[in-house]
Amino acid sequence: MKYLSTRGRMAPVRFRDVLLEGLATDGGLAVPDAYPRVDALLDRWRGLAYADLATEVLALYADDYPRAELARLVAATYTSAVFGSDAITPVAQLEPGLHLLQLSQGPTLAFKDIAMQLLGGLFETELAHRGQSINILGATSGDTGSAAEVALRGRSRVRVFMLSPAGRMSAFQRAQMYSLQDANIFNLAIDGSFDDCQDIVKAIGSDLQFKREHRLGAVNSINWARIVAQVVYYFRGYFAVTGPEPAQARQPVDFCVPSGNFGNVLAGWIARQMGLPIGRLVVATNENDVLHEFFSTGTYRVRGGAQTQVTSSPSMDISKASNFERFVFDIVGRDADVLRELWWQVDTRGSFTLHGTPFAAAVAGSGFASGRSTHADRLATIRAQYARNGRILDPHTADGVKVAREQRRPGIPMVCLETALPAKFAETIREALGRDPERPAAFRDIESLPQRCTPFPADTAQVRQFLEEHAN
Ligand SMILES: *Cc1c(COP(=O)(O)O)cnc(C)c1O
Repeated sequence: MKYLSTRGRMAPVRFRDVLLEGLATDGGLAVPDAYPRVDALLDRWRGLAYADLATEVLALYADDYPRAELARLVAATYTSAVFGSDAITPVAQLEPGLHLLQLSQGPTLAFKDIAMQLLGGLFETELAHRGQSINILGATSGDTGSAAEVALRGRSRVRVFMLSPAGRMSAFQRAQMYSLQDANIFNLAIDGSFDDCQDIVKAIGSDLQFKREHRLGAVNSINWARIVAQVVYYFRGYFAVTGPEPAQARQPVDFCVPSGNFGNVLAGWIARQMGLPIGRLVVATNENDVLHEFFSTGTYRVRGGAQTQVTSSPSMDISKASNFERFVFDIVGRDADVLRELWWQVDTRGSFTLHGTPFAAAVAGSGFASGRSTHADRLATIRAQYARNGRILDPHTADGVKVAREQRRPGIPMVCLETALPAKFAETIREALGRDPERPAAFRDIESLPQRCTPFPADTAQVRQFLEEHAN
């Protein structure tokens, strides 16, 4: 398997080359040169345990990685000790025909753990092979930072420098990150917003010489290995709702995905391209509806920071969807010239449209649908599901369930992806239900643990200085 850039100006590389990278060298995103078709394997894959299935999927995309090592790493990652059950991603029924694929049973209670935990192992092994070390620089508004830190804590050859907006995360999210005492984790609590944090990371990352000199890496949602790890649970979800019988093999199943940076649902698109009979992929957005706008009008219009609303499903508060470029690359027939032209339009006038172009038919035929959910919808959905089956949904998952119910089709199972547990977002749960969500035992007193972070001004030069002093 070779990897190309969506912008078409990178010599083909292998999985192990893209593993540690963020953007491709030409500013695009790495994509495989083809999606392997697995139609003929579905009956065999149906009965596999999670780790075995993950090894099969990963081996297709990481065929330069020694298979035995991959299998060992995957088996060490997807354990019931870390994810709470042998199923790893169990499926629950919310209503007849409407299912919840539970992806948030990992150590930080959000779906990002599934990919990030694997990435930790892949990084460590690859760096040992190369005899190198890496310094991960990132910005977080909450979920990504804790998932990355928990996955990378205590790993040799890796240091993590995470910028977070001081005072703007929930007490729970703060505790999840700042209570880590590992010497390789550096939390910089920036006196500013998430956008300030992100701007600092971008400014430092665009200085290629500094980046090389200090071996800076990223684990943000454009990381290709994260996407591949997420492909696995679409297969699991599909098999879980279609039952053990191969006779059901071609039954279409729809998936609904609470979306922000388009990483999670992109994995579904890839699973579909590989031959998994996914009917529709439904993108659920909150009030920040960049993606819903695209799938309902054909126009992709990014927003400025000032037009990005702060909502009660904060992990979906995005102004542009970084992984969307990989999907559009497929839609335009993998023509990098067309792709570059479209992103030039985004950079210069903030939008492009495929409406009325030859590519509109490809979008219409892609199987994508979308919907939007607001704060009031979120609260109503949390209340309704709690009344119906005693289950408390987190606000992001509630956005998904709201849209999934609107988009259901008769006779076709709908699977909504659970992207976090409600314990992370107690305030919204209290507003909806007048009670606190339950907390897994391991988190009972997390806010009272000693915390360790460095208060920091929103100043790029000082962050650079800190990296010079503390990087590996
Ligand atoms: C990251 C995140 C999302 C958005 O996922 P994308 O892959 O960025 O689309 C949704 N919900 C929660 C809880 C998240 O942490």
